[in-house]
Amino acid sequence: MPQKFIIAIDGPAGSGKSTSAKLAAMRLGYLYIDTGAMYRAVTYLALKSNVLNNDEDIIELARSTDIKLQFVNGITRVWVDNTEITDDIRTMEVNSNVSDVSKIEEVRHILVQKQREMAKHAPGVVMEGRDIGAVVFPDADIKFFLTATLDERAIRRTKEYEMAGKIIPVEEIKKSLVQRDKIDTTREVSPLVKSPDAIEIDTSRFTIEEQVNLILEKVLETANKKGIKILLQENS
Ligand code: C5P
Repeated sequence: MPQKFIIAIDGPAGSGKSTSAKLAAMRLGYLYIDTGAMYRAVTYLALKSNVLNNDEDIIELARSTDIKLQFVNGITRVWVDNTEITDDIRTMEVNSNVSDVSKIEEVRHILVQKQREMAKHAPGVVMEGRDIGAVVFPDADIKFFLTATLDERAIRRTKEYEMAGKIIPVEEIKKSLVQRDKIDTTREVSPLVKSPDAIEIDTSRFTIEEQVNLILEKVLETANKKGIKILLQENS
């Protein structure tokens, strides 16, 4: 039985954490968990049921809904009670409301339990979010905190939307990022902060390949020190 290895990757939207977390997980053959998708799923359900102004109803949705994530062909597919909502959670409407939903303490508590449960049986896990190193897995084997300038993050997000066929002005995206950053970093419960033991990487000037290589290099170094054997899979 291989020794368990947990990699926590935190950072704000557009910092490159999703892309590098996914690619690193693929090279390592590890389970990849996008925790933002879970907060987005609850937000989508709250919007759909028109209960955004009622914390108790949102908590009940988080508690009673079976949220499933499946990482296939580079995409996190998301189901709630067996209905797929993969595309529905990536709208500007969800973007505008997700940080308010994520502020609710009990919602966080419920989702953190689910995240730990998902990671339980996998020998290796790459989990990304805002509070993974600080709250979900404070004892993770290695923690990363990714950052990038606001301009760079906004450009990346605009391009992602363009690739998905959505044209959104970069200024609108920038405004939404600033608003989300503000709520995510100042909320009382589990705000987005860099754990003191996290490795900080400013990805502004890095290509994706450089980010992933740096992460893998640090992972191999740490695993080596701990006497844990990791075999990288070929780039596909
Ligand atoms: O990572 P992504 O941008 O999809 O996350 C959407 C939102 O979900 C974040 O802006 C944040 O409010 C919330 N989130 C969180 N804790 C996490 C992951 C995401 O509060 N671990």
